[in-house]
Amino acid sequence: MARSVPEDLNSRPVAVIGGGTLGRRIALMFASQGGLVRVYDLSADVRTAAVEYVEKKLPDLVAARPGASAGRVEAVGDLPAALEDVWLVVEAVPERLDLKRSLFPDLDRLAPADAIIASNSSSYPTRMFTDDVAGKDRVLNMHFYMPPAQNAVDLMSSGHTDPAIMELLKAKLPGYGVFPFEARRESTGFIFNRVWAAVKREALAVVAEGVTTPAEFDEMFTINTGAKAGVFRMMDQVGLDVVLDIENHYAAENPHLPEGPRAVLHEYVDAGHLGLKTGRGFYDYE
Ligand code: NAD
Repeated sequence: MARSVPEDLNSRPVAVIGGGTLGRRIALMFASQGGLVRVYDLSADVRTAAVEYVEKKLPDLVAARPGASAGRVEAVGDLPAALEDVWLVVEAVPERLDLKRSLFPDLDRLAPADAIIASNSSSYPTRMFTDDVAGKDRVLNMHFYMPPAQNAVDLMSSGHTDPAIMELLKAKLPGYGVFPFEARRESTGFIFNRVWAAVKREALAVVAEGVTTPAEFDEMFTINTGAKAGVFRMMDQVGLDVVLDIENHYAAENPHLPEGPRAVLHEYVDAGHLGLKTGRGFYDYE
């Protein structure tokens, strides 16, 4: 029997699980259509910072987009309360399979029966962490890049996702200022993120081999592509720990991948230089 898709989206909240670099940005986008967004994170400090981030950015975002209106964002420290009456849950906890594997059965058990449950994972298909989830037909990958600056979104089925959910999201997401593209079959890294992984890897490789430096590479990249920021600056924004987790996953799937790029990332991560979030990465932000 086909699953029923959620209705009354405008009057029901969205829950974002994990309020770090991406969670707070996802919350921002879903708060731009007048509704309520709840941010749940294990860390009270992160929850508070996520709400502050949304409240600071929302007025400009709403002013710049015709038809947008400022909604509300709330920090919630209790998972069942965060999920009450939501139409959509977006998971944005760290890129570790064990975390996602233990979280998704809880999300499936606690969310309303018709709610959609999405993962913002950068590289793990939901199939890999939903063995113990009964409602696989309401689960999918919904991968954001760096909203509100980079607003494409990959959608990918769990292998069981109800096609009506895909259609609903394709129709509704542009209203929140994000633009969905569906991977038509399972792909590690979906569509664009897979190509981006190769770009990051090769940029790290030329640095690992001593051919150039991060700053000079970025300068050349921006001159040639017209991009506002180079690859190393963008990795700093993402967080070098997250970039390393993602590359480790690709390397586990493809053992022939070069080690140099991971060695460069390790050097920074081991020194605690995770990029923008710690004030130092390939660049110094202090
Ligand atoms: P992050 O480390 O900045 O934030 C993750 C947050 O999750 C932390 O605040 C942590 O306290 C919280 N958390 C951990 N376990 C939790 C749990 N069980 N319940 C609730 N909260 C929990 O990570 P991030 O960079 O925001 O990445 C999150 C996810 O988004 C990852 O899967 C990552 O691959 C993906 N992603 C990241 C980016 C990026 O640019 N950083 C881009 C696209 C996708």
